[in-house]
Amino acid sequence: MEEITCLGIEGTAEKLGIGIVTSSGRILANVVRQQALKAQAGIHPREAAQHHAEHVPQVIRAALKKAGISLEDIDLIAFSRGPGLGPCLRVAAVSARTLSLSLGKPLVGVNHCIGHIEIGRLLTEAEDPLTLYVSGGNSQVIAYDSGRYRVFGETLDIAVGNCIDQFARRANLGNPGGPIVEKLARKGKYFPLPYVVKGMDLSYSGILTAAVEALNKHPVEDVCRSLQETVFAMLVEVTERALAQTEKDEVMLVGGVGVNRRLQDMISLMAEEHGAGFYVPPRDVLGDNGAMIAWLGVLMYRSGVTHELMDTTVIQRYRTDEVEVKWRS
Ligand code: AMP
Ligand code: MG
Repeated sequence: MEEITCLGIEGTAEKLGIGIVTSSGRILANVVRQQALKAQAGIHPREAAQHHAEHVPQVIRAALKKAGISLEDIDLIAFSRGPGLGPCLRVAAVSARTLSLSLGKPLVGVNHCIGHIEIGRLLTEAEDPLTLYVSGGNSQVIAYDSGRYRVFGETLDIAVGNCIDQFARRANLGNPGGPIVEKLARKGKYFPLPYVVKGMDLSYSGILTAAVEALNKHPVEDVCRSLQETVFAMLVEVTERALAQTEKDEVMLVGGVGVNRRLQDMISLMAEEHGAGFYVPPRDVLGDNGAMIAWLGVLMYRSGVTHELMDTTVIQRYRTDEVEVKWRS
């Protein structure tokens, strides 16, 4: 098969990513521009969308320059169709449609969560992993089974990254909170916080409230430590049960929260106890990025999927298991 080059646009939340990837899996460029967040505020969907709209031409130019190619060398356009924040998704979709129309190249809308899994499979040795996907907007335990990526467990309310970020803001630690809480947690002592696993699902909003209240009684380092231990232990429990249930022999950790060393250690220890391999993709593709969107675009296109313009509406609550996975057998 002739090699093709795909440009992928990621824009589900506060990061705008442009990735350029070939069908042989070479990442030619992966440029991510993050909207500067205010210290006290979460992501404002319309302001994030405004950021993406303003910067998309510049980030595309930067990616093309990095790849050493021009727009005419692009054979396929992919974009994140969901899940995500409506206004942000629409900017990515409109940019992708415009490029597709003006270049006369095919267009594929992809599921963001599956993008994380596929770039992980491309860049690690994992072939058929049970995946723990943890980020600012998502927390899911996912495995491939009979033609779909099935969700074995997920959060019932906020994502684990959002829980940590909200805590950090309320504790005046800064934004995003993940790396700051990780650092402080190393110096802290553990005390119990509410632990909420319901069946295979997780709930983080009550723990967030309890952790914020605990700031009145405990040093901030101790609360950081206890919050991390608690929310990560919940992830380990659900991932471990899914591993037993699916009988996979690989565990992969993806998403921005996957950068956390403590979480990596906990999941890797659990995997080892089950005789399963443990995989984490390189840091620059762990969080949201355009290369994962471009690569999934390639896989879908090669399996016969393209989208007509009218089929490129965004899907804010795009479920991982809605996608028919034609590129794996
Ligand atoms: P993503 O949505 O995949 O781009 O990831 C963003 C999320 O990752 C935010 O909630 C960050 O706080 C979180 N994050 C980044 N670095 C770390 C870290 N070292 N520990 C925990 N969470 C982190
Ligand atoms: Mg993500």
